[in-house]
Amino acid sequence: MSEVKAYAAPKQSADLEPKTIERREVTENDVAIDILFCGVCHSDIHQVQNDWGGSRYPVVPGHEIVGRVSKVGKNVSKFKEGDLVGVGCMVDSCQTCDTCKKDLEQFCENGATMTYNSEDKHLGGHTFGGYSQKVVVDKEFVLSVPENLDPAAAAPLLCAGITTFSPLNHWGIKKGDKVGVIGLGGLGHMGIKFSHAMGAETVMITTSESKKEDAKRLGADAVLISKEDDAMKKHAGSFDFLLNTIPVGHDVNPYLQLLKVDATMVMVGAIEPLEPMHGGNLIMGRKRIAGSLIGGIKETQEMLDFCGEHDITCDIEMIKMDEINEAFSRVKSNDVKYRFVIDMESLK
Ligand code: NAP
Ligand code: ZN
Repeated sequence: MSEVKAYAAPKQSADLEPKTIERREVTENDVAIDILFCGVCHSDIHQVQNDWGGSRYPVVPGHEIVGRVSKVGKNVSKFKEGDLVGVGCMVDSCQTCDTCKKDLEQFCENGATMTYNSEDKHLGGHTFGGYSQKVVVDKEFVLSVPENLDPAAAAPLLCAGITTFSPLNHWGIKKGDKVGVIGLGGLGHMGIKFSHAMGAETVMITTSESKKEDAKRLGADAVLISKEDDAMKKHAGSFDFLLNTIPVGHDVNPYLQLLKVDATMVMVGAIEPLEPMHGGNLIMGRKRIAGSLIGGIKETQEMLDFCGEHDITCDIEMIKMDEINEAFSRVKSNDVKYRFVIDMESLK
């Protein structure tokens, strides 16, 4: 085992503070990674606050990890020392159930091991995430990051990227489709970039008038302010697909009214109760509401390769590790453009 520096929340909703954690020795199937950058996902805040229940403390958050391989086990042929790699929200799964065999490890029937806050099958206790100097991960859960991408701006692809790419990909978004991305934050800004790159007419649906210009720069063809009833009415019944990234429970009815007949709204943000939904908003138009969770490892690699080919990365604000508490406050007050990324050099 080796001791590494990390940042942890010692108890519910507490500020994050320095903490020394242990990482396992590299086994024959493992890859050891020196972490260069780690993105700050809104989920990190939900977990520190125990918004979803079941958080285990101390919480070392972080599941948007990019780093360089420092050591590999003897069964590892795909990676070698020095490779630029990424780790997202999962570090293990049974890899034998039907769901894992379908490359949907995030829904492993025996429970995927999440990067933090899951049972640690090697050391006991629970897993610790990427707000740390190093991590040791099973080779099947390590991704190759294209070398042409800026590694800091690529880090949030490991969660914000795959979480938005996967539903757009699964629902077959293509040229000619009209796609609405709801909520311009870490996930939403990647949703716009991917939808635009897939050729769809892309509309940013936002509560923030002030984000209009940014949305267009990121690739939106139009911006719809969700608080403006008249504008919402103008777009009623016109969308083929909606990607909803709002991080809290909310009223989905106004958004369902935007969908065409047979169209779908996919929820990725609110992992909590929603306000009551009117059945008529689904029945009138055979509409669908669906959900999506990150993406499997194979699809995550496809997403990274797509980003390499299309030169897609995230718009980031770089911070030092000791600025994390201020960064959490700013994410909570909807003040980040559009993802904080921690420079792990600052933890030395
Ligand atoms: P974020 O950066 O905070 O962005 C969320 C955006 O939603 C905000 O920028 C804001 O955009 C809008 N918003 C915030 N509060 C709102 C409200 N009360 N009503 C309407 N709109 C609101 O968060 P994120 O990192 O993108 O994460 C979004 C959510 O996805 C979080 O809950 C996170 O836990 C979850 N998540 C899910 C998955 C998954 O696999 N399903 C993966 C990662 C994250 P505007 O200013 O444009 O309105
Ligand atoms: Zn995340």
